[in-house]
Amino acid sequence: MGESAAARDVDPAAGTPPSGEPGAGTAPGIELAGVSKRFQLSRGETIEALSGFSLRLEVGEFVAVIGPSGCGKSTALRLVAGLEQPDEGAVRLAGEPPAAIIDEGRLGVAFQEHALLPWLSVWGNIALPFKVRGRPVDEDQVRSLVELVGLTGFEKARPKQLSGGMRQRVSIARALVLRPDFLLLDEPFGSLDAVTRRQLNLELQDLWALRGITTVLVTHSVEEAILLADRIAVVSGRPGRVVLERDVPFDRPRGRDVEHLPEFRSLMDDLTTALDRAAAMTRGG
Ligand code: ADP
Ligand code: MG
Repeated sequence: MGESAAARDVDPAAGTPPSGEPGAGTAPGIELAGVSKRFQLSRGETIEALSGFSLRLEVGEFVAVIGPSGCGKSTALRLVAGLEQPDEGAVRLAGEPPAAIIDEGRLGVAFQEHALLPWLSVWGNIALPFKVRGRPVDEDQVRSLVELVGLTGFEKARPKQLSGGMRQRVSIARALVLRPDFLLLDEPFGSLDAVTRRQLNLELQDLWALRGITTVLVTHSVEEAILLADRIAVVSGRPGRVVLERDVPFDRPRGRDVEHLPEFRSLMDDLTTALDRAAAMTRGG
């Protein structure tokens, strides 16, 4: 952090992972190396979601991934979460296949489709990962997360009694409850209005920075990416691959004032332009 906002345009022909050479030095936090993923559709058609997708996060790094809708962002996260297998390339967490890390409970996920269980309270939903793994619930840990995400007093409430922002806080607390080393967030603030979203971004940013969890955030908001991430990766239209990476040069904690800095505006402009170009790359509609 604090260094220049270096841009690394990725040469697709070179086949080099944009985030450095695999195998050099210590194992990275999260690594996708030359990953391809195809899905079978009906009548024998296939769809190529990812092709030559490479992204590498150092331990403790927070990377935001932005890209046009349908470019394979969620697919990339599902590969890291071990929910899909790559057709080509490799996915590693701490240098190991995801399954090993997931078995140890070292990966937290907050995906949009992972809804809260409506019949469980806030407390019950946050404690759920312990139950799922057959572990005794660490009450102190649940309590400290309830506090951290600002839900003290709402422990007994059911999801339907909460606002959208509060439900998102519960999802994030649940993803963190097992003290993961790795965190995957797929548009966790996607359904919120702009004001609530920004408020949550500002409030929760310390949580990422302090805990040193290696985090990938998929978002469609360039602003959110800049507020939260150490680095931003732009994904091309389908088949998705990382076409640009930019470091975010702002010190933490980042307040509302950051948005008025000329560097913020120019980073915003650069990334928005890159997103427009990325969208134009989509093959086959
Ligand atoms: P994003 O999250 O960037 O919007 P996704 O990763 O969800 O994109 O999807 C990328 C492409 O792969 C889309 O065209 C989507 O329809 C397709 N896709 C994703 N998952 C599946 C699946 N299980 N079966 C078939 N197609 C899929
Ligand atoms: Mg998605």
